[in-house]
Amino acid sequence: MVRSEFGSVNLGSLHEPVFRGNELDYTRQCVESGFVSSVGEFVNRFEDDLSKRYEGRCIVATNSGTAALHLSLLAAGVVPGDEVILPAATFVATANAVRMCGAEPHFVDINLSTLAVDPESLRKHLAQVCVDSSGTLTNRNTRRRISALIIVHLFGHGAPMKEILEAAGGFGLPIIEDAAEAVGSNSGGRPVGVSSPLAALSFNGNKIITTGGGGAVVVEEPETASLIKHLSTTAKLPHQWEYVHDLVGYNYRLPNINAALGCAQVEQLDHFVKQKRTLIDRYEKALRELDEVQMIREPADGESNYWLQTMMISEGHEISKILEALYESGIGARPLWKPLHQLPMYSACQRSELPNVESVAKRLINLPSGVGVLG
Ligand SMILES: *Cc1c(COP(=O)(O)O)cnc(C)c1O
Repeated sequence: MVRSEFGSVNLGSLHEPVFRGNELDYTRQCVESGFVSSVGEFVNRFEDDLSKRYEGRCIVATNSGTAALHLSLLAAGVVPGDEVILPAATFVATANAVRMCGAEPHFVDINLSTLAVDPESLRKHLAQVCVDSSGTLTNRNTRRRISALIIVHLFGHGAPMKEILEAAGGFGLPIIEDAAEAVGSNSGGRPVGVSSPLAALSFNGNKIITTGGGGAVVVEEPETASLIKHLSTTAKLPHQWEYVHDLVGYNYRLPNINAALGCAQVEQLDHFVKQKRTLIDRYEKALRELDEVQMIREPADGESNYWLQTMMISEGHEISKILEALYESGIGARPLWKPLHQLPMYSACQRSELPNVESVAKRLINLPSGVGVLG
């Protein structure tokens, strides 16, 4: 705990969960009924609750956001030996899900103000590296098929999907939205994650709402949702007593006890978003005097959940010194994840020039962003 003008607040971690609703009540119901695992009423209820928030789309709840991404890529038709385009500035799970399909990540640059894939540099890069050989988009350097594009809504800010769809549209690339960080965000009056047929959400412990660990796929087509649900439950064919599986499936279903936590958290989501929007205003006000600091704000046509609250430091400052000082004061601030093309397992991957990713990695600091910061 740190004392401040706001009283006693928790600044010690980047994003702590807050349980102030029906969490204990619902999880107790699971334990008492015995339905703690992959079947139970809270899983259905959680999916229904989410569906209402995602324009009635089908929801398949999974045991992580990574699993949701993996299943989305499989449903989009990504197969071993393909390449999938994604930004180099994202959490490592986005690229891991690509490798889990036996495909190769191919990194592109971001825009300095939206922090999402930059439409203009994407268009240029695709025109440079891609050849369209009989309806198949191919990387002319590697001869591999490029089979999908993942758009990440970084820190909860809705990416400019219209511009991105226009840039990628001519190439016929299936798009998957990594909306893991954007639960509760809107863009152009619609929930972030419904601009494409498939989106992945995360309910990990550090996200805006949590199921302990968990995720979900938001799916436009009911048949695709059925396939995803089938793959998430070991591809077992329904039968009263026989065990028959018709595909290599996964144990990716969200357990009922985690869904119970999720139901209680969804009830508080709008309140959490409101609180986090208050917090960003406080940070902005407190840091207004510093010319070297700019807070990242939501896009003009969107309402962000402000999952993580971001300071951008102007060029020429040493953020390592700032991070060290914040750490010494017990404040849980964090830099951007190391850009993915700089990690050993992804350093040989295809990529465009990445000047903005590299610049942001040297200048960005995320401040403690949980609702608990407000006390
Ligand atoms: C959290 C996150 C994931 C992965 O979610 P898990 O639930 O931790 O597996 C994927 N992508 C992004 C951008 C994330 O922030």
